[in-house]
Amino acid sequence: MTELADIYRHLHAHPEIAYEEHETAAIAAKRARELGYEVTEGVGVTGVVAMLRNGPGPIVLLRADMDALPVQEETGLDYASTRPGMMHACGHDMHVTCLLGALQRLRDEHDRWSGTIMAVFQPAEESRGGAQRMIDDGLFERFGTPDVALGQHVVPLPAGVVGHRAGPFMAASDAFEVRLFGRGGHGSRPQSTIDPVVLASSTVMRLQTIVAREVDPRESAVITVGSLHAGTTANIIAAEARMLITVRTFVPEVRERVLESLRRVIRAEAMASGADREPEIVHSGGYPALVNDADAMSRTVAAITAELGQDRVRDQEPAMGSEDFGNFGTAARVPSCFWFFGGVDAQAYATAEAAGRLDQDIPTNHSPYFAPAIEPTLSTGIEAMTAAARAWLTPR
Ligand code: ZN
Ligand code: ZN
Repeated sequence: MTELADIYRHLHAHPEIAYEEHETAAIAAKRARELGYEVTEGVGVTGVVAMLRNGPGPIVLLRADMDALPVQEETGLDYASTRPGMMHACGHDMHVTCLLGALQRLRDEHDRWSGTIMAVFQPAEESRGGAQRMIDDGLFERFGTPDVALGQHVVPLPAGVVGHRAGPFMAASDAFEVRLFGRGGHGSRPQSTIDPVVLASSTVMRLQTIVAREVDPRESAVITVGSLHAGTTANIIAAEARMLITVRTFVPEVRERVLESLRRVIRAEAMASGADREPEIVHSGGYPALVNDADAMSRTVAAITAELGQDRVRDQEPAMGSEDFGNFGTAARVPSCFWFFGGVDAQAYATAEAAGRLDQDIPTNHSPYFAPAIEPTLSTGIEAMTAAARAWLTPR
């Protein structure tokens, strides 16, 4: 465990963003090789596949994502990111380390099961489709089609706890890049311009009414304009504005309606401003909703519960976050099982919960303050992944 904690701290201090996970991949590959796995690197750019063929039986896919985020770390940890503007703010360093720990345990217990472990270290989970990239690079043709896909994510639950849910578990996401065209000019002469800052402002506000006024209140949806840029200085009216938008939904019909309304509002606001040119709206990516197979989930959760104890396993509400883990199960036409495990110091969590301040005091994924407590987070992730894998391998 000490050695694995060192690997975790090293990964945390050396984050790499999507498709640049070269050092991370090398560390995972080296360790898996040392454990006796057959390792292939460069699957889907920087992805790593580690196989342990241990007699007849099912093929079990175990997945960890590897990429970090363009976030400036503010945790003040002594193993904080050494790379400016880059941080493991989503805990993928924890996922890699937990999977390495599980590979070790499964190897150590190899005389108690038979089947094949297919460990997948995936690049670019954060919005750039790393799972699909590995699938397109022949993941299943080259290494075999698994019987089940298992994955986990560290979240702001108390460390030591696992949260799960059958059915829709994580939202569909859709990303848009939008250019709004106005007409630039002097800051003192608005009458000769079409101000894209005012146009963008009303667009941002009006987009929020889609969720408030067009989505059935019993359903859920989120529209976030995460980036908004226009202009250079105070006395110039800019010629255009750019927006980056993310949309999250669960239900396909809601997704369709929200995306349609989003396009309508953006076009209509441009028209209301008198813009001579239609906005440019590019759908730049998206993931479908992640749906956990109900039967497979109950088998997996039973094994995790037997390992951790009933008091450490709880039901979990669906999350508006998105994940491309579902792509593996969908492409292989096999069940997906994905669960959360906590990373927050149990005492800090209890204090915040008692004060009704969970949202304020506990940093979430993607926050510059996101800092999982190494233990018991690491052991829990390893135990959960190992138990889940064992539930699908043939006992002997
Ligand atoms: Zn993330
Ligand atoms: Zn993540």
